[in-house]
Amino acid sequence: MNLMKISVLRSHEKALLRLLCLALFLCSTSLLQAQIVSNDKFKQEDKFRQLEETLPTPNEFRTASGAPGEKYWQQEVDYEIDVELDDKLQKIVGTEKVTYTNKSPDKLNYLWMQLDTNILSFDSDAHLTDTSSHLGKVGYKTMQQLMAKETFDGRMKVSAVRDEQGDPLPFQIIKTMMRIDLNGSLSSGQSMTFSVDWSYLINDSQSRPARTGYEYFEEDKNFLYEIAHWYPRMAAYTDNTGWQHKQFLGRGEFTLEFGSFLVKITAPADHVVAATGELQNPEKVLTETQQKRLEQAKTAKKPMFIITPEEAKKNEASRSKEKKTWIFMAPFVRDFAFASSRKFIWDAQGHELKGKEKPVMAMSYYPNEGEPLWSRYSTHAIIHTLDVFSKYTFPYPYPVAISVNGPVGGMEYPMICFNGPRPEKDGTYSKRTKYGLISVIIHEVGHNYFPMIVNSDERQWTWMDEGITTFLQFLTEQEWEPDYPSRRGEPRDIVGYMKGDYQVPIMTNSESILQFGNNAYGKPATALNILRETILGRELFDYAFKEYCRRWMFKRPTPADFFRTMEDASGVDLDWFWRGWFYTTDHTDLAVENVRQFLLETGDPYVDKVRRKKERDEEPESLSDIRNKSLPKRTDKFPELKDFYNEYDDLDVTDADRKKFEDQLKELKADEKKLLETQKYFYLIDLKNQGGLVMPVILKLTFDDDSSEMLRIPAEIWRLNNKSVSKLILTEKPLKNLILDPHRETADTQLSNNEFPRTISKSYFQLEKSKKSKNEMQKREEEQKKAAEKDKPKKESEKKE
Ligand SMILES: [Zn+2]
Repeated sequence: MNLMKISVLRSHEKALLRLLCLALFLCSTSLLQAQIVSNDKFKQEDKFRQLEETLPTPNEFRTASGAPGEKYWQQEVDYEIDVELDDKLQKIVGTEKVTYTNKSPDKLNYLWMQLDTNILSFDSDAHLTDTSSHLGKVGYKTMQQLMAKETFDGRMKVSAVRDEQGDPLPFQIIKTMMRIDLNGSLSSGQSMTFSVDWSYLINDSQSRPARTGYEYFEEDKNFLYEIAHWYPRMAAYTDNTGWQHKQFLGRGEFTLEFGSFLVKITAPADHVVAATGELQNPEKVLTETQQKRLEQAKTAKKPMFIITPEEAKKNEASRSKEKKTWIFMAPFVRDFAFASSRKFIWDAQGHELKGKEKPVMAMSYYPNEGEPLWSRYSTHAIIHTLDVFSKYTFPYPYPVAISVNGPVGGMEYPMICFNGPRPEKDGTYSKRTKYGLISVIIHEVGHNYFPMIVNSDERQWTWMDEGITTFLQFLTEQEWEPDYPSRRGEPRDIVGYMKGDYQVPIMTNSESILQFGNNAYGKPATALNILRETILGRELFDYAFKEYCRRWMFKRPTPADFFRTMEDASGVDLDWFWRGWFYTTDHTDLAVENVRQFLLETGDPYVDKVRRKKERDEEPESLSDIRNKSLPKRTDKFPELKDFYNEYDDLDVTDADRKKFEDQLKELKADEKKLLETQKYFYLIDLKNQGGLVMPVILKLTFDDDSSEMLRIPAEIWRLNNKSVSKLILTEKPLKNLILDPHRETADTQLSNNEFPRTISKSYFQLEKSKKSKNEMQKREEEQKKAAEKDKPKKESEKKE
């Protein structure tokens, strides 16, 4: 069998499989709905049905209003960690003391920890179940990565787990999870302390890219480390999930508990370390100059260097044999990450935020390779993000906000994030790189709010942190400069995705999402933007959204808590909106099918009959009428054949008509008579919903005198019939045309049916000369000619030059 045929079969099979999946999905959703309620008569699903049957039942932990309940609880985990970064072996060696406080009402017999670096081993589920690779033209880098997946072993070696007395505790590692068995059980309200010793090899992010890793710089032989999920972390235990110990497959990120961290990081003495939290021993690890500059930066008006590009360049050549230990403290965070290198330039600026006593230190760490982009934009982008996000949520509660340039493209941790974009070697950069850098910093710094503080379950729902962050990223970008080229947020930018078939609802587990970026970032961000601009309006939305943030700051919200709070605080029933945008794959395609004018009959024959006569006379002549006109007629030849009816017009006003009208008027009351004089124009607008998603009907009406008017009809217009409705409107002036959604605020996927009357659509095409490629004989001839010319002895004149 030839290869071509295989690939054809495969794509055919894939299509079949896709269809099958789609059919199964449709079956299962209709089955689900059928269980709740069934209706074989009116063949339409109820798109305004309340979500109560779908959302979890409210309880004393989470109320029906979407707020934390009276008995809301969450566990607390405090860490003291000693870790060494081995720059020779690119290795992490650590020991941690974990204090776990059981605030749940339940008794626990075992604890679960996450060993997320285990995803970077050759037998990880992530690697074994990866189905995407297809071989065609393969880049060297891809091949390198393919090989590293098969060979690199980055899993954690856990050498000991001990209780407070130092006695070993039994434990079992199950892929990316570890169960620790307790001697007895941990009752509600009790805490326990235990320790874990571990080590692992850090991944080279060239060959084994991840949310953590090192970058090696060939020119100066230095490493730059961005270190995350580097210590055994407590898995979350919650009122709605119990232990969240779903295996780490790569996409569903982390579900973590809040607590305090005291972390001692030992690194080569010439490294600079950036980390979550506040540095506790600057006098031990920073030079006097650096300390002095840091102090100045607290009140600086612009970012200023703590380590200059020149100093960083000099530092690159250093090879200290000594070590230094950096001590960081971070209260009330859910995680801890750090970065370390000899190569770091470091700039900082203190930033005053409303509602905060001390300024936040916004800081950036980057190698010279990041210049000139990083010193220009990074710290500014951090501060701008803190300003705009704080405006819409709550004042940033942490003392520092850090952006680091290194091998990780864009990844967030509390107070610190890793961002990839860099200019070319010659210092120039594309538009894409510039805005890519500003946008990724806004996005990752923004994650401090979601999920680092509003602590949603990332392993279950990607949209709760990514969608909400992307939404606020859009608002933040638009306040950076006019017409900032945002990739996501505008309704028109999601249209292509919304009309496609290869998709699943937003309410899908992180690991099962098709088209990850569009599903979990773009669509929810756009939905929230539409909710803000079109459904609720800015005032109501901003109030409700802030309430959600206030309620769930440092707590653990679920999707239902978000949906319920937004309704509770806005006073608007949004179940149809959540149902349509979050639970289905419907898209917006509203259409104006027809517009019909209705004229009020006055009863006055001099008005009504005259008008009808005029209309009749204006009717087009039929083809036969035209052709028959010249034919000789019998009544012309014999005029005696003509009688009364040859002159009679039944639209002529008669005495009887006049009398009838006068009699009618006599019977009418004054206010009824007035109605007959109504000067309004009546139009019936026939609307169709072709995309399934119920959305407001936004109409721009243009009148005969070219004046116009907006008519905004809420989505509830579809509540009795979600496929087609007719809306009667009364206008003062005759209508010339109308446009549905003129500002493109509803992500309508088909604009051609939005205008009435329709207009001719326009697009462009190009003319091209056809190119004929040379055949093999011509190519050979050419080669021979070239070779002959090369061998030809040069002329005297040429030789001199
Ligand atoms: Zn993100």
